[in-house]
Amino acid sequence: MHNKANIINGKEIALKVKADLKADVEALKREAGVIPCLAVVLVGENPASRVYVRNKAKASEDTGIKFLLHAMPLDTKEETLLGLISTLNDANDVHGIIVQLPLPQQIDSDSLLEAIDPKKDVDGFHPYNMGRLVTGSPCMQPCTPLGVMGLIDSTGVDLSGKEAVIAGRSNIVGKPMAMMLLKRNATVTICHSRTLDLPACISRADLVVAAIGRERFIKGEWIRPGAIVIDVGINRTAEGGLAGDVDFEGALKRASFITPVPGGVGPMTVAMLLKNTVAAAKARIKATGQRASFKRA
Ligand code: NAD
Repeated sequence: MHNKANIINGKEIALKVKADLKADVEALKREAGVIPCLAVVLVGENPASRVYVRNKAKASEDTGIKFLLHAMPLDTKEETLLGLISTLNDANDVHGIIVQLPLPQQIDSDSLLEAIDPKKDVDGFHPYNMGRLVTGSPCMQPCTPLGVMGLIDSTGVDLSGKEAVIAGRSNIVGKPMAMMLLKRNATVTICHSRTLDLPACISRADLVVAAIGRERFIKGEWIRPGAIVIDVGINRTAEGGLAGDVDFEGALKRASFITPVPGGVGPMTVAMLLKNTVAAAKARIKATGQRASFKRA
């Protein structure tokens, strides 16, 4: 019986990713005269969204990526936003576009996300990119599951043939996560709100990815000894702190590797957004025949 899990330090891994990106951004600027640029569309005053956007702005600036914020009033019409997206699609110096979710009721999120040029879709939510993810073709991949893959890779564990259980089936986490794990030859189960016996599913997993949004919902005793536990959940506790979807203390005693909340998946999500933005800038340079050629994608 082993003692305590290794804690995967997402903050540190994300710092390393950002340091590599910073070097890439400097090279792009020096050799191609291009500064990668991320445009963010924020509608209304949702406090959580404002915090997320502020984090993205800071991380972009730290990495040398240009950050363009389009903060729009809550009552903005859908056609105005579609017009803005179209302008950003056409802008030669904008490489990535994201629309911060959730959007106010009068806006159809799907129409807006589908209006983004798939090459600039650095959140990877466009059906074109989602479709390519399903077929296993190169594409812009959603940042949170992509960050989870980076954390799993940091353990050095080969997923081939392993039982992976994902709790949550959202389009931004659960579903794309399943595709990425399948590509690594894991046997994947997706659990959700109608799953009959979540503890039984979790207890046979070599890898658990929790993305439910309920504080400490997954109990330590459900975890199979030696499993890798990745906690995507971010929940505000009654005490005003943050907690994940997993009972961290309980799971720590059984898992081989586990991510903390905060300091696990969150920092990696932002790092992957920057990575996608730099990749989009490189792809554009290549497509428009500018001189630089870069190996790292
Ligand atoms: P969501 O609300 O869209 O989906 C929640 C999912 O949980 C649903 O698919 C639902 O079927 C499932 N679920 C609900 N009850 C369940 C139960 N009893 N058993 C099994 N599954 C159940 O959530 P989301 O957008 O995927 O986010 C999930 C969590 O991850 C939230 O806490 C969110 O804040 C967090 N999140 C974190 C990051 C990050 O960067 N760390 C990014 C995205 C989301």
